[in-house]
Amino acid sequence: MSTDISAGASAIVIGAGIVGAACALELADAGFAVTVVDAGPVGGGATAAGMGHVVVMDDSPAQLALTRYSQQLWTQLQTVLPPQAEIMRCGTIWVAADAEEMAEVERKRHRYLEEQIPCDVLDAGRLYQLEPNLRPGLAGGLLIQQDSVVYPPTIAAWMLDRVTEKGGTVRTHTQVDRVEPHCVILSNGDRLAGDVIVNAAGAVAPRLTPGLHIKQRKGHLIITDRYPNFVRHQLVELGYLKSAHQSDGDSVAFNVQPRPSGQLLIGSSRQYDESRAVDHVIVAKMVARAIEYMPAIAELSATRVWTGFRAATPDKLPLIGPSPANDGLWLAAGHEGLGITTSLATARLLVDQIMGRTSAIPVAPYLPSRAASEAMHV
Ligand SMILES: Cc1cc2nc3c(=O)[nH]c(=O)nc-3n(C[C@H](O)[C@H](O)[C@H](O)COP(=O)(O)OP(=O)(O)OC[C@H]3O[C@@H](n4cnc5c(N)ncnc54)[C@H](O)[C@@H]3O)c2cc1C
Repeated sequence: MSTDISAGASAIVIGAGIVGAACALELADAGFAVTVVDAGPVGGGATAAGMGHVVVMDDSPAQLALTRYSQQLWTQLQTVLPPQAEIMRCGTIWVAADAEEMAEVERKRHRYLEEQIPCDVLDAGRLYQLEPNLRPGLAGGLLIQQDSVVYPPTIAAWMLDRVTEKGGTVRTHTQVDRVEPHCVILSNGDRLAGDVIVNAAGAVAPRLTPGLHIKQRKGHLIITDRYPNFVRHQLVELGYLKSAHQSDGDSVAFNVQPRPSGQLLIGSSRQYDESRAVDHVIVAKMVARAIEYMPAIAELSATRVWTGFRAATPDKLPLIGPSPANDGLWLAAGHEGLGITTSLATARLLVDQIMGRTSAIPVAPYLPSRAASEAMHV
């Protein structure tokens, strides 16, 4: 399936988060007349609530392919982004608590090196040289040098500025009520027609495209006062992999990020809970976990805590491609905790499909039509 843009085809992107913004820019670059519609401001959904860790993950071959490809696209984009993108090429350290987790470090290192992803195994001595505030007694870790940290809302805004420079339109504070073939209906009754419609509405994408296998998965983050050099890398416990991928129940994991301001972002939690309210029980667990790994965190002062919603799919992969339900409708949603990382690859793979181009990586694992498969019903 491909769209003929020779006659100046038009595209409507629903959602001005990082995924919608990346899709809009890719469509504008491909020659579409693009309109972006968002019920709120640019980048005000999960894009504002997340951590901005651009990270290669290897829970499945398809996840590794998508995160790796996207990280390569981020490396290119980071050369042109403005200072407000707050890029820190700090790398990730996966922290191993014991010998069992060091075995996982070895497995991960082997897998990454197969994909030519540079990484270094850290023994305990080297770990404490790099991150002296970690608690004594940890076994070591794995350093992934090319992972980075960005500030997603300003990047979404930068992308949409490029879209408007190319003649596109961005309509914020404009709610889409429903989607029809080649048309969206706004809450004020206006109809916007487009050859291509992209549902990039994040965790609430199923409200516009009923039947999508996406559930809201709440997360909390805390930001501290300024403590420059308190941590120097994004630090994640290897146990994070277990907590991020257990299919139900509440979980917390040690996940701390340095910001260019000297502040620390402390996470993270996962819950299937649709209330926006801060859950003090889970925040207390999250803080306790952080202090377990970094006792000096107990002395820091926090300035804010907030929640956001990840868009979780049963097989932990996003939906990128044509909607089986509606002619002219394309999906770019379901990115769970990796949507900042995978936004750029999502946009490229989506527009490749729209244009009938061959993609750099196979698109099959992300096609919405896989909804019929068993992996999507767990
Ligand atoms: C606590 C937390 C930490 C995270 N950390 C990371 C991380 O470190 N790295 C990473 O890669 N990812 C991370 N993520 C995930 C990442 O934030 C998301 O996957 C990503 O932001 C999804 O972007 P999006 O554009 O799909 O969704 P959103 O940013 O939610 O954008 C969707 C937009 O659609 C709009 N919208 C919805 N319905 C309508 C409608 N009917 N009409 C008009 N507009 C509509 C919304 O207003 C919203 O602006 C984290 C998420 C959370 C919650």
